[in-house]
Amino acid sequence: MFELKPCPFCGSADAPRLYARHGKDGWHDRYMVICDYEDGGCGSGSGWYTTDYEAVDCWNRRKLMTSDEVITALMDLRDEFVAKQPRSEWYKDKTAQGVEKGIELCIEKVREIANEVR
Ligand SMILES: [Zn+2]
Repeated sequence: MFELKPCPFCGSADAPRLYARHGKDGWHDRYMVICDYEDGGCGSGSGWYTTDYEAVDCWNRRKLMTSDEVITALMDLRDEFVAKQPRSEWYKDKTAQGVEKGIELCIEKVREIANEVR
């Protein structure tokens, strides 16, 4: 038997279930873990996989990122993007500056939402 971790979205330990779909030949051909509404879950799912093992493995590795982790990931993305731009062209390239500004706005927005939640 597989052990399913609690839902990363609603925290339910009882609602997550492994479901199998029957293919045309009558055998199970796709598997998905679903946080079942019927058991008080939130309805999120792992997505369909060709083996039960993959569906369970995917489900058990999902985790929500904290706002700090999201901000760090966005900062890394911005730094990586800036580092790839040719330095001499940087101030002339409005598109590159626009992308950097867009990432900055995302970081600000995540901070704003995180502060509202706290
Ligand atoms: Zn859930």
